[in-house]
Amino acid sequence: MTPNVLFAAPDRLWARYQAPLTRALEEVGVSARLGPDAGPPEDVDYIVYAPHPGLQDFTPFTRAKAVLSLWAGVEKIVGNRTLTMPLARMVDAGLTEGMVEWVTGQVLRHHLGLDHVLSHQSGEWVQNVPPLARWRPVTVLGLGALGAACARALAALNFPVTGWSRTARDIPGIRCLHGEGGLAEALGSGQILVLLLPLTPETDGLLDAARLALLPDGAVVLNPGRGPLIDDAALLAALDAGRLGHATLDVFRTEPLPPSHPFWGHPRVTVSPHVASETRPESAARVIAENIRRGEAGEPFLHLVDRANGY
Ligand code: NDP
Repeated sequence: MTPNVLFAAPDRLWARYQAPLTRALEEVGVSARLGPDAGPPEDVDYIVYAPHPGLQDFTPFTRAKAVLSLWAGVEKIVGNRTLTMPLARMVDAGLTEGMVEWVTGQVLRHHLGLDHVLSHQSGEWVQNVPPLARWRPVTVLGLGALGAACARALAALNFPVTGWSRTARDIPGIRCLHGEGGLAEALGSGQILVLLLPLTPETDGLLDAARLALLPDGAVVLNPGRGPLIDDAALLAALDAGRLGHATLDVFRTEPLPPSHPFWGHPRVTVSPHVASETRPESAARVIAENIRRGEAGEPFLHLVDRANGY
């Protein structure tokens, strides 16, 4: 069999993925017809997908064995009622590596007070030695592919790390809490809070005024997860009141963040334009190819999305 693999993503991505995907399919021994035009929809076997207006209705793809998402976050497609075939999300070593670098860098920036150092270069000799990481507790909400990797990297630097997930997790070196019952303790424990939750009906607006109030005074919020995890107005109120120290936000309810948004230019907010990490074609192509190999061999797909839970 030579499966037909439709690459259905914004145009600019095909140039980046064509060679890695072709190579990765060869490596797993699958000979496929691959491209943005894989023949009539009823002949397509797999859809490599990133949301774009060109494909929203999956109904004509009657033979497709799976939709293979290029992105880790699937909130834009998980609710698509025409997408009835298995949906796999992206778990990519390169994406994870990039997220670990971004989160570690942001945590160290706030832990070491690097902003303060950079803004005090006028000749005044003021010595503020930062505490050791072992005295700076960090909380990571979300202990999945990305959250767990970040939690481990921070723990390796000696930060005491508390993690929070929906179901119970056991990660050596991390204090793992879960469920509604563990949330208040998780929020109360971290001087630096990292949000790496997916956006689902349950996590939408999770960090509202009441939960922000549980964070320690002066806490720093890092959000590379999804914008709607946070109630923007409540966050701004907590920052304006001086209750929270800073928010470094990589993701927003509306992207690009509108120029008039109060986050821009706010003295306690750093706007990062959704660059914390991204799927890396070389490593991601191997994940896609492995799933196609599995589909052809009748083996279970990796990284299937649980539709009921929304991630
Ligand atoms: P995973 O699905 O691997 O992990 C999700 C984690 O969140 C799991 O630990 C899960 O719990 C937990 N979780 C989900 N729902 C709840 C809930 N209601 N209460 C408590 N915990 C919950 O996702 P990834 O780690 O791969 O990715 C996380 C998110 O990061 C993505 O969904 C995406 O939004 C974002 N992202 C951002 C990027 C950027 O550049 N800014 C790049 C890529 C992704 P459990 O372990 O029990 O299942």
